Amino acid sequence: MSSEAKQQRVKPLLEVRNLQRYYSVRSALGKAKGQIKAVQDLSFDIYEGETYGLVGESGCGKSTAGRTLLKLVEPTGGEAQFNGESIFESKASRLRTIRKDLQMIFQDPHTSLNPRKKIGASIQETLTIHNVGAKRERKQLVIDLLKKLGFNEEDYNRYPHEFSGGQRQRIGIARSLILNPKLIICDEPVSALDVSIQAQILNLLRSLQREMKLSYLFISHDLSVVRHIADRVGVMYLGRLVEEGPTDEIFSNPRHPYTKLLLSSVPTINEHEKCEKIEVKGEIPSPLNPPSGCAFHKRCPFAFDRCMKETPEDTVVNTKHKVKCHLYS
Ligand code: SF4
Repeated sequence: MSSEAKQQRVKPLLEVRNLQRYYSVRSALGKAKGQIKAVQDLSFDIYEGETYGLVGESGCGKSTAGRTLLKLVEPTGGEAQFNGESIFESKASRLRTIRKDLQMIFQDPHTSLNPRKKIGASIQETLTIHNVGAKRERKQLVIDLLKKLGFNEEDYNRYPHEFSGGQRQRIGIARSLILNPKLIICDEPVSALDVSIQAQILNLLRSLQREMKLSYLFISHDLSVVRHIADRVGVMYLGRLVEEGPTDEIFSNPRHPYTKLLLSSVPTINEHEKCEKIEVKGEIPSPLNPPSGCAFHKRCPFAFDRCMKETPEDTVVNTKHKVKCHLYS
């Protein structure tokens, strides 16, 4: 069965609807200055075994969205269902159980590991928190997993600083895998690594996905990385999803001018892969004071009157591809 046909029949593993995360901004004297809408009305689904890539420039809200889904930051509004169960409405004890299945890999493997703890103890701590197995079993589970990720038994007793950046990210992956999760939120997991190590980590994530039937929400500003790993891509601009579709289609036939901008900024030596270059004016506007209508209109070379007044809603390009742009509505 094709993955499209499967998706029409199968319920998503993660359903996100109208997710919002706003921050109030106050002056030094405590006076309200406004709100930063870091994430606005974000909706998407992730299916079992699928990788969904969330892309956009730094500050577009993609990492905030990932952290909000795990309730590491509180949502301002919206809903997220994991396996049919509300993440945001679950009580603390239930949320802890959900988090066994919903894990995270952080961007910086160096700061996400406690420098004073041996890596075996750091990974084992997750098992202890979730009350999995007896003490000796836990140690063996960690050693088995470390071996699976290319370490040896002695590494259990080493400290994070004794490993390279790529090895530390593999330790971060081990920590996210130890509870046998269903979905992992990967927040820029390779951006702190050298290009050659990036490829190793991406290949590792793919082979673990096949073996363990994992799903990933893969957050990245790097489109070439997302192209390598994602089945579908969502493009974010100033807190909103502006385009979503299958990876091949987004890369071969992007519709939103912002997606075209991102793609035309990706360096390529292959003439056939070069996409339409678009000239964009200005910098990303302040999220504290975003432009009216389409938030991209001050930079968009195709903007017309309507763009300044009306916020575009989803327009369906085809059953799998949608875009928020007045050019298509
Ligand atoms: Fe450009 Fe208008 Fe489309 Fe926004 S809605 S991307 S301003 S054409």
